[in-house]
Amino acid sequence: MTPRLRPLLLTLFALAACGASPGQKPDYEVRGAAVFVNSDALFTQREDFRDRLESTLEAALTYWGGSWSDLAGRSISLEGSTFVACHGVASATGCFDGNIRISTNDLGRTFSCVEETELVHEVGHAVLGDAAHRDPRWMDFGSVAQALSGRAGYSGAGETGCPIIENVWQHPPDL
Ligand SMILES: [Zn+2]
Repeated sequence: MTPRLRPLLLTLFALAACGASPGQKPDYEVRGAAVFVNSDALFTQREDFRDRLESTLEAALTYWGGSWSDLAGRSISLEGSTFVACHGVASATGCFDGNIRISTNDLGRTFSCVEETELVHEVGHAVLGDAAHRDPRWMDFGSVAQALSGRAGYSGAGETGCPIIENVWQHPPDL
């Protein structure tokens, strides 16, 4: 690239790496975490969304042994794109880098509810760090799946299920 282009590209990268555009106001505040909705997935547009997000975060924090202070001051962005910006990893569907970004798509299929997304996984990084996924709970998730099961999801046809698929959250230890 020419030196002239460099500042512009760096700016674009900085925007892409951050869930929110500069000056964008959060759509919600949940217990001190700023929530940005950059998705038109139906579940994000529902009146119950803020409450569903809060109760999903609560269940995730319980699973990981964390508290709301682990999320306070962070942002949580829901992105309509299949992949989210993450440390230069091209195929991330969720990311924690101090803030949480999650895709509302599971590789092409739009999730029907927030509980199904990678959120529970990323909350684990907010609580534990553990980027290498050494904690055995990264391969479990039974109790939090049970806590979040049986809720409603939303599709173009109206109300549908919200099936929790634990392997969306599971990650074996990195070598
Ligand atoms: Zn992870």
